[in-house]
Amino acid sequence: MQSHAPTIFPTPEGNNILDTQGSFRYPRGMDKTAAVPQTLQDALRYFSDPDKCLAFMVELRWPNGVTCPTCGGRFVSFVSTRRIWTCKENHERKQFSAKVGTIFEDSPVGLDKWFAAMWMIGSAKNGVSSYEVSRGIGVTQKTAWFMLHRIRLAMQRGTTDKFFGDVEVDETFIGAKARNMHKAKRARLVKGSGPFGSSKAAVMGFLQRGAKKGESKVRLTVIDNIRTQTLDTHVRSRVAPDASVFTDALSSYRKLGDTYDHRTVDHAVEYVSGKVHTNGLENFWSLLKRCIKGTYINVEPFHLFRYLDEQAYRFNTRKAKDGDRFTDSLRSIVGKRLTYKHLTGKDALPATT
Ligand SMILES: [Zn+2]
Repeated sequence: MQSHAPTIFPTPEGNNILDTQGSFRYPRGMDKTAAVPQTLQDALRYFSDPDKCLAFMVELRWPNGVTCPTCGGRFVSFVSTRRIWTCKENHERKQFSAKVGTIFEDSPVGLDKWFAAMWMIGSAKNGVSSYEVSRGIGVTQKTAWFMLHRIRLAMQRGTTDKFFGDVEVDETFIGAKARNMHKAKRARLVKGSGPFGSSKAAVMGFLQRGAKKGESKVRLTVIDNIRTQTLDTHVRSRVAPDASVFTDALSSYRKLGDTYDHRTVDHAVEYVSGKVHTNGLENFWSLLKRCIKGTYINVEPFHLFRYLDEQAYRFNTRKAKDGDRFTDSLRSIVGKRLTYKHLTGKDALPATT
């Protein structure tokens, strides 16, 4: 088997991680674009080796050498038989795996399966269902569902940078069944006025047009209503004051002209007037709805923002190669945790895969 393994990341002689004593060594140069597997098939073959999975993750997580997640100490020794490290300092949790302090923490699922799932959701334009992942990597559907939500957390981009230049702003409604809603959310939505009383969730989108085709970026947020104060506040917190803002003729946007170069297109009359349109977002909405209806079938409103994170991430990295998108999402796993209890309010999944 070993002789058939692709030599995508050449291992310098004597650098075999299984031979290592005292400190963890890994193949060099694996973080270069050329060295990252670029197809699902290459990735599955490459990551079928647990040592290569670990080496890949270590290179991204600790490019300057492994440090203890508890004390930050550099004096750690690698226990190759168990693929864990022991910190030399005297404290609790001296032994740690590469999963500690990441979205993978406490997961009994191997890195090979995690990486395959990350690759699948990152490269599938319309998303990938937990059923597909379950069949593809051999875990239960419930485990796959939980894994996908944790990967969505890695895809979440918390940024405070404001959009600038030409910015489209629009809102849409995502259908949902009230009976599946979280109690607090249902209470809020049912109280809300407007067209989405009890059965729909509203999403607001921002699209910054790019200099070239394919360079536009989106940001999304779930909103409680489409009243002036709500929409106005969201625009001001996400769009720089010198931007040109394009919206439809919804009256909730009427105050934006105080600050912005605000242009509206009245969809009752026309959809495009020169550069005044929201077609970028309209296209994004159809992609989003295809993903949610086609792949995920029924998204519970209190999880909706996670699917929005996923779709926005994939859209904003659409020019990247699948392998680079995979590497980028893997870089973002540290310092993020999502427990089953936090996700569902229920006790943890049984520790089986
Ligand atoms: Zn330590």
